[in-house]
Amino acid sequence: MNKPKHKKLTCLGIESTAHTFGSSLVSLDEENQGTIISDSRSVYQPPPGSGIHPREAYQHHSDVCSGVLIESLRKAKMDMDSVDVIAYAGGPGLGPCLRVGAVVARSLAAYYHKPIIAANHAIGHIELACMLTRATNPIVLLVSGGHTAILAFSNGRWRFFGETLDITIGQLLDQFGRAAGYASPSGAIIERCASKSEEYLLLPYTLKGNDPSFSGMLTSAKRLLSSGKNMDDICFSIQETAFSNLCEVTERALAFTEHDEVLLTGGVAANTRLQEMLTEMCRSRGSTFRVIPRQFSGDCGAQIAWVGLLSYLHGMRLDISKSIVRQSWRLDQVDILWRH
Ligand code: AMP
Ligand code: MG
Repeated sequence: MNKPKHKKLTCLGIESTAHTFGSSLVSLDEENQGTIISDSRSVYQPPPGSGIHPREAYQHHSDVCSGVLIESLRKAKMDMDSVDVIAYAGGPGLGPCLRVGAVVARSLAAYYHKPIIAANHAIGHIELACMLTRATNPIVLLVSGGHTAILAFSNGRWRFFGETLDITIGQLLDQFGRAAGYASPSGAIIERCASKSEEYLLLPYTLKGNDPSFSGMLTSAKRLLSSGKNMDDICFSIQETAFSNLCEVTERALAFTEHDEVLLTGGVAANTRLQEMLTEMCRSRGSTFRVIPRQFSGDCGAQIAWVGLLSYLHGMRLDISKSIVRQSWRLDQVDILWRH
C-alpha cells in the first residue's frame, strides 16, 4: 500500500445498501494497520417465501439506525468527538435503503463538523478482505447478493475479468430458497441441505466467455422442485454446478494474469463447499487461497469504514452538498488511490 504519514485515524462507517443496516468503528494506526474496533448491525428479514421489499427494508433501516449507531459507539467505548471521518455506502444498492445511510452520515457530519466520504460498497467487500487476510495482489472472487465478479487490480482500478450476465450467485440461492418456501437470505439453508446429499441431478452449466450465467440453472432447479425431486439433492446439484462454474472463471483469470493468489469475499464466501473447491483449484496451481472471515463476509459497516479511511488518507474529500447515493455505481468506476 502507498503510505502517507499520518496520526491514528478512526472512521465511522455506515452500511445500508440492501438488507443490512450496519455501523462500525475502524481505526488506522501510524503504521497503516487497520483494526475493527466495533461492528454492529441489524438485518431486515422478509417473510418466508418473499424477497427484499425496498420500502420495507427502508422502514427497517429507519427504525433501527439510531440504536445500531449508538451500540457501535458504546461497544467501541467512543463518542462522536473521537471520530475523525464519517463514511457511508454511496452505492451500488437499493435507492430507499441507500438514502437512510446517507442521511444518517450527512446529519452526523454536519452536526459534529466531520469530513464525509462516500464509499463504494463492492470496494468495501474487496478491501476489507485484503486487510483481514493480508492479501496483496489477488484475483478476487466477489460473490454476494449484489455481485458475482472476478476481478484483478490493474492500472489504478479493480477491473472485471468476468461477471454474471444475469442474476448473481446470491440471487440464485435466495430465489431458489424462496421458491422452496424458505426465508431470504437462504444461502446457509441451501448449504445445510446440500451437505445431506451426494446425488447429482443435471443442471445447465452456462459460461459465455468468462462470464457466468445462472438464470437457466434457477429455472431448471425450480422445475426439479415442482416435479417432486428431493430438496437436498437439488441443493447439492446447485452448489456443485454453480461453484464449478465460479472455480473455472477464477482459474482462467488466475492463468491469464499469472497472479498467484485468490481472495474470496462477499456473503457467499461463507460457504464451506465453495471454499473447499477453490482451495483445491489453488493447490493444484501452486497458488495461495484466502477467504474473508465469516463474520465479515456479508454486508457490514466495517467494509465502509475501511474504504472511508483509505480514501481519506489518500486525500479524497467530499463536499457535504454532493453526498448523494448512486444505485448503479460500478466498482470499476472507482479510482483506487492507495494501490499501485
Ligand atoms: P451480502 O450481499 O454480501 O450480504 O451477501 C448475502 C448473500 O450471501 C445472500 O445471497 C446469502 O444467501 C448468501 N450467503 C450467506 N451465507 C451463505 C452460505 N453459507 N452459503 C451460500 N451463500 C450464503
Ligand atoms: Mg454486499
